[in-house]
Amino acid sequence: MSSPNHPDGDWSTRHSVLTMARRTAALVNALAEAQPGPGHVVEVLRAYGERGPLDLTSRDVTRMRDAAEQLREVFAAEHANEAAVALNRLLRTHTGPLRLTSHGGDTPWHPHLDHDDNAPWDEWFLASSCLALTVLVWDRQLPPGRICASPVCRNVFITQGPGPERRYCSRRCATRERVAAHRRARSAESPG
Ligand SMILES: [Zn+2]
Repeated sequence: MSSPNHPDGDWSTRHSVLTMARRTAALVNALAEAQPGPGHVVEVLRAYGERGPLDLTSRDVTRMRDAAEQLREVFAAEHANEAAVALNRLLRTHTGPLRLTSHGGDTPWHPHLDHDDNAPWDEWFLASSCLALTVLVWDRQLPPGRICASPVCRNVFITQGPGPERRYCSRRCATRERVAAHRRARSAESPG
């Protein structure tokens, strides 16, 4: 168990707003797969620092899928205004009052919008996602993320953070689309 007295290196970055926002994107993508099992979702949660036993059922995953579909609207927003409207709609119906928790001293103090530390997984997912995405809109006055520009990909990703602006979720999608554009250009040059 970690404690504030012997932090394990990633103590503060593990809970940064950007990390939380990236976890949201990773979960939205994992939940968009045809039949995501609890095991796959647990893997994503662990990759983003979730500790201890994670008792996720298929029913939890089904409800998290609904939450993920709702969060997609925020990623579909092209401007800060649309992102804010989508987030306000979610905040109005799916979150409780702002509170601080340290999960009994296991984590740094951080804000939560779910009603308590034992909230159902889908409530936790929506509330923690809304919180991180809201802070990003506030901080940058830009949409927090986008949907991959590849027509064969549904992945969402966080656009804010260091590095150049991206249109694709991954190098794989960027390469595939660059090759496709190149082919289209070549066949336009030499028809038949
Ligand atoms: Zn993609």
